[in-house]
Amino acid sequence: MDFELGAEQKAFGDSVRRFAQDKLAEGALARAHDPAYSFELARLIADQGLLGIVMPEADGGQGGDLMDAVVAIQAVAEVCPKSADVVQAGNFGPIRTFAEYASDEQKARYLGGFLRGETFIGLGMTEPEAGSAVTDLATTARVEGDEVVVDGTKVFSTHSGDATLFLVYVRFGPGTGGIGSVLIERGTPGLSFGRPSAFMSGEAWTQLYFENCRIPASNVLLGAGGFKKQIAGFNVERIGNSSRALAVGRHAYEIARKHVLGRRQFGRPLAEFQGLQWRFADVAVKLDSAQLLLYRAAANADRGLPSAYETSVAKLACNQAGFEAADLAVQAMGAMGYSQESLVEYCFRRTRGWMIAGGSTEILKNRVAEEVFGRKFEQRAKS
Ligand SMILES: Cc1cc2nc3c(=O)[nH]c(=O)nc-3n(C[C@H](O)[C@H](O)[C@H](O)COP(=O)(O)OP(=O)(O)OC[C@H]3O[C@@H](n4cnc5c(N)ncnc54)[C@H](O)[C@@H]3O)c2cc1C
Repeated sequence: MDFELGAEQKAFGDSVRRFAQDKLAEGALARAHDPAYSFELARLIADQGLLGIVMPEADGGQGGDLMDAVVAIQAVAEVCPKSADVVQAGNFGPIRTFAEYASDEQKARYLGGFLRGETFIGLGMTEPEAGSAVTDLATTARVEGDEVVVDGTKVFSTHSGDATLFLVYVRFGPGTGGIGSVLIERGTPGLSFGRPSAFMSGEAWTQLYFENCRIPASNVLLGAGGFKKQIAGFNVERIGNSSRALAVGRHAYEIARKHVLGRRQFGRPLAEFQGLQWRFADVAVKLDSAQLLLYRAAANADRGLPSAYETSVAKLACNQAGFEAADLAVQAMGAMGYSQESLVEYCFRRTRGWMIAGGSTEILKNRVAEEVFGRKFEQRAKS
């Protein structure tokens, strides 16, 4: 058993860190307060080869493994938390689902733009009446000749104002087996947007309305049964979210650690007060434990052993440790930590969201409990 990254991964992490220091350190605070998805930033990060790290070279990716993506996300987040979002979005989430299941023709149409940072793929999964119970989704897809007609509403689609393409989960028929997904370009007649809104993190989202929205059948990503097929891949997804949540929390922790060493009150550095020392020590243990759980999940997935249990445990630990670290950082820095003058305030808002998105902490605990007790617990009310 080895608790260190390999020599190649360390060297890769160092080179990403150098790039981030050189190109991303300046402007990190302003970037955090920009609600839009920055294509300029995405192009810069793409030029560094940090989009599509886990995708095959034949598809225009870097042919790396999940651990490489973890290392890259975390090295960038150390310097610029907002830029880590771009690295994450270029490796996990809808782009990864797309790269995994798209036909060669679909990849030829869209993937190059995503990997060059020129276009962005949004996710339309959540609906007003289908959040955690995602398989309750009601957006329908009706096949009519060589067209598919989509009707329904999606909510909370991150950066929907900037997305050029949407990966939309739809219902071709009843039950979980009837769920699949389609690709809908911005500008398609029948797709309209609601009033712009924003998450607590500042990221913009808008409601997506599909009314008699006709797309060519060639834009079906996965037909009926597709959702079930994708569930296995979802374990791996959680690794991206975990990496970013933990690293953004650690970013805030580091700012606060330096702050309490330098800031003096009552004639001595804040770091000399034991009440603060113990909180920093407790959070250090949580950050380190979560990091090891994340490495375990990523290393085993890279060995071909992705485990729903290990990725759920890793996401739960990383989401909680990341938020707790950011919360401590705000408190330890006083009003400065609560102010927009400091990135700590942004990290607090940002890490909070990941306890809800991508599998809430409660849903993850449900998954872990199933492993603990060796049985499934039906969440649905009996009809
Ligand atoms: C930052 C952020 C970005 C997002 N981006 C996107 C996006 O790009 N595209 C998209 O489609 N969606 C996106 N979402 C939406 C996200 O997928 C949903 O918020 C999530 O699935 C939870 O659904 P909900 O918000 O409707 O909460 P609900 O499902 O209503 O849950 C409310 C609370 O009840 C708890 N709960 C629910 N069921 C159970 C249960 N069985 N046991 C115990 N507790 C339970 C939940 O954990 C939660 O705490 C995003 C959300 C956030 C916060």
